Amino acid sequence: MKRIYFDNNATTPIHPEVFDAMLPYLKDEFGNPSSIHWAGRNTRKVIDEAREKVARLLNCDVGEIIFTSCGSEGDNLAIKGLVESKRDKGNHIITTKVEHPAVLTTCKYLAKTGFDVTFLDVDNQGMLDLDQLKKAITPKTILITIMFANNETGVIFPIEEIGRIAKEHNITFHTDAVQGVGKVPIDVKKLNIDLLTLSGHKLYAPKGVGAIYVKRGVRLVPLIHGGHQERNRRGGTENTAGIVALGKACEIAHRDMEQEIKHLTALRDRLEKGLMGKIPHARLNGHPKNRIPNTANISFEFAEGESILLNLDMKGIAASSGSACTSGTLEPSHVLVAMGVSMEASHSSVRFSLGRGNTVEDVDYVLEVLPPIVEKMRSMSPLYSAATGGAANISFTESGSCSH
Ligand SMILES: *Cc1c(COP(=O)(O)O)cnc(C)c1O
Repeated sequence: MKRIYFDNNATTPIHPEVFDAMLPYLKDEFGNPSSIHWAGRNTRKVIDEAREKVARLLNCDVGEIIFTSCGSEGDNLAIKGLVESKRDKGNHIITTKVEHPAVLTTCKYLAKTGFDVTFLDVDNQGMLDLDQLKKAITPKTILITIMFANNETGVIFPIEEIGRIAKEHNITFHTDAVQGVGKVPIDVKKLNIDLLTLSGHKLYAPKGVGAIYVKRGVRLVPLIHGGHQERNRRGGTENTAGIVALGKACEIAHRDMEQEIKHLTALRDRLEKGLMGKIPHARLNGHPKNRIPNTANISFEFAEGESILLNLDMKGIAASSGSACTSGTLEPSHVLVAMGVSMEASHSSVRFSLGRGNTVEDVDYVLEVLPPIVEKMRSMSPLYSAATGGAANISFTESGSCSH
């Protein structure tokens, strides 16, 4: 059976060059980077080299990168570390309703421990209203944490403008850029970013490594107290192999970015145009232009997202849906709900997130396989025949509520 992977926003495969680069540090080069003897010296050196590569991708200094174990740790360290260090200056945090759980849950936790959190709305294309952001700022605001690009829809937020607003008000600006780093150019200086999170396994490095950028002068209380690693900002013996891998992945992302943007945009557009053309009532979720190049989130109303995924999986295609089945109830995506997408449409959404390994043949295979799947599911839906002029005794409204 074919195996086609269209779920790169969930995780990416390890790039072969990254795999080769990290292998020695899982075997012969095992020394503790803090050791002064021969076994440790080389591992210290390669960690420093990896740090340079990450810094180059973001246009910052080597001293501004802290390695972490994942994106979630990075978000926690940036957010909790910052607000704790600024507690005497205020207790107000601004974020959005569409953040990844690593930010959303952290902010909700902080809201229970004495912080005030404003969760900004987005419009029906998933975009932010900057006036709403400006109005939310108070003299007590110490942190704005807003993601670079949304993992579900791919929508890119106006980071440069947010950075400027934060700077004007002397507020620290953190961005969860896990879905942006490696996909589009990010210059932390130009964008006025103070703190940025990235994660290895979203850019062709393995799971278990990530990093944050911390602008010089921004103080963070550590999350993990311990040894002197990472300049006292993150205790714990370094994951040398993972760090080397992340460095290599950043180097490759820098080297290949222009070409990958072209490649992924072409494939994504072919997929979207093809699906919209072949499947009636297919609708794109998210801003049509302001997006990272690899992500397409599409609703196929009157077909259930989870069932579409199961059917795609049977054909060897891996994608994901905008709803998560938790405790037996199908909960619609908080991102699509915040965008005002109807229950019906969000339950029928599918996210395709492409990656560097994908080809035109992969896209064409989905274009061949998916339309009959949706058609079959719709043919069994009484709501669909009602909405398209079939059975007359069932009414359907645009909002997605239906009455039998
Ligand atoms: C995947 C992801 C994270 C979490 O990263 P992990 O390394 O899996 O902990 C955070 N934010 C966004 C936007 C993500 O897509």
